[in-house]
Amino acid sequence: MDITDNVEGTEIPADHCAWCQEPLEVGDTVTMYASDTDHNPKAPHEDFGIERVYGADCCRRLEIDLPSVNAVEALFAAQIDPSWEAYDVHLIDKSTTGEGIEWSPPSMITLVTGMEFETFMDDPSLDHVRLSPGMIYDLILGWDIDPKSIIDEDGKVVMSEDEIRQMQADLQERIDRQYEEMET
Ligand SMILES: [Zn+2]
Repeated sequence: MDITDNVEGTEIPADHCAWCQEPLEVGDTVTMYASDTDHNPKAPHEDFGIERVYGADCCRRLEIDLPSVNAVEALFAAQIDPSWEAYDVHLIDKSTTGEGIEWSPPSMITLVTGMEFETFMDDPSLDHVRLSPGMIYDLILGWDIDPKSIIDEDGKVVMSEDEIRQMQADLQERIDRQYEEMET
């Protein structure tokens, strides 16, 4: 069975682009990221599932950016049919277990935020989120931090302790500012 057979005809689990939040529409060509790995400790999904859907005008995904050695990950192009299912599915990129970089997505969260992963996951808004390597990659990138600048090709952290402290302080400042903006 081809890996695309897992995806052809499945429901598209989003109506907005996961990156820019633009609404998706019937007939759109989308890019979809799927993985078999969910780092959410509360109720991890165990299936190979589509997790991130990117809109037609958001072509920043042409490959799996930071494939995790412990996960199966795939990127597909597909069209949205009128019943909101994926058709004309094509594989763009794939990384199976044993391929990719030895990085731990939960450890990267800890490194970037300075919080234990369990503490970070206390946030109720994350209760049912599928936390695949690709989701965590996007989350960190959404904080204006490039995960690829943190580790090298062997998954080794390349930042100094000072740089890590600075990164954590900058992120905390950005989050505090966002909260302030939300309150005013
Ligand atoms: Zn987008």
